[in-house]
Amino acid sequence: MNNVRQCCLCGGKDLVPLFKLDSLPISHYLRKKLDDPDPRFTVGFECCKSCGLLQIVDAIPADLIYSQADTYTTGFQRPRHLEDLITTAVARCDPGSAIDVGCNDGALMEALGRAGYTTVVGLEPNAIAAEIARKKGHKVYTSYLDQKAADDIVAECGRFDALYLRHVVEHVSDLERFFAAVRTLLNPEGLLILELPDVEEGFALGSPAILWEEHVNYFTQALAEYMLCRFGFRVLDRRKYVFGGGSFAFVAQMEAAPAAATAGRPDSAPTVALLQDFVARMQRQKQELSSLVSQARSAGYKVVMYGAAPRSCLMVSVCQIADMIDFVVDDRQDIQDRLMPGTQLFVRPLDTLAGTTGDKLLCLLGVGSENEFKVRAKLEKAVGAKLAYVSLFPPRNTLDSVDDARRAIAAHK
Ligand SMILES: [Zn+2]
Repeated sequence: MNNVRQCCLCGGKDLVPLFKLDSLPISHYLRKKLDDPDPRFTVGFECCKSCGLLQIVDAIPADLIYSQADTYTTGFQRPRHLEDLITTAVARCDPGSAIDVGCNDGALMEALGRAGYTTVVGLEPNAIAAEIARKKGHKVYTSYLDQKAADDIVAECGRFDALYLRHVVEHVSDLERFFAAVRTLLNPEGLLILELPDVEEGFALGSPAILWEEHVNYFTQALAEYMLCRFGFRVLDRRKYVFGGGSFAFVAQMEAAPAAATAGRPDSAPTVALLQDFVARMQRQKQELSSLVSQARSAGYKVVMYGAAPRSCLMVSVCQIADMIDFVVDDRQDIQDRLMPGTQLFVRPLDTLAGTTGDKLLCLLGVGSENEFKVRAKLEKAVGAKLAYVSLFPPRNTLDSVDDARRAIAAHK
């Protein structure tokens, strides 16, 4: 953790408070019983005047978020782009030894083995996810990546030819120490394969959904490239994927030494302007969504949230609509019959909805945009109600979709 209040990327001391989110639940902590604790946090978002990075300087303690949750597994996501990402790295350098930092339940490690990597080791702070990966036969260290963990792993396994780092860095408060540990794990000229959420489109749309999962920093592509340069990596390849609302990835090669903090630092002005605009648009999206839900209820609609994952939790708490939702549905069996964080609602499978929804239903689509059409088809088959929908996640435009839902509600009268 930072002891001084400074930008976690460039070390700049001038942090501008942009907005706060109140009463945020821990999105991976799905309670089993109504009276289980549902802790809430107020989180301040600040932007660095020197580089423009949006970040949470005073973050929720990581142990509270990751160590206890027993539903923090990601294998169910089956991202379709892993093969492309691995192929991009293997085209640069033959598969040798690899370490997957934040390996979760081992889905990527399996893919790395299939792709020809000879040794694959994982590192994962969540003990439950790590144990699932171990049961699949993988060597996994249960730890965060810090210098001690890196030294211990190198002492036991040697250094690695490739380090995979998917959807981890956005959770890391002390980037300088973290990347020092990354460098310890890699052979000279080793490859770093980095994937991050793509937030720029979400910023432009004013979507609160991109602030999901207690991420402590939010990289534009330019800032991610600056980070790589600053910590001593040269970008070889760039990729964009439709995954979790959009992601971007790099294959980068480790250079002999990190660059100076100011080397390659992008001009912060365009990012700061984008963020100020984002705050205003987000405010509008919150108001429009909550007024639509309340209008639908007055018109006799029941409201279902389809999808109980972190981005949905965030939308529900930011827009303060928890008390206006009648049902929460999710296809993931391991979170069914648990309570959605920040609500008093149990997550149910779709089939329990049949016959209980009344004749009009507003569905908040808390699912990846690429899956919306499938969810619509399933809902239309399962419930007899007249349906109106709202898309919650980028790249769909939620405000446009609120207008469509208003028209559908008017047409159903
Ligand atoms: Zn900065």
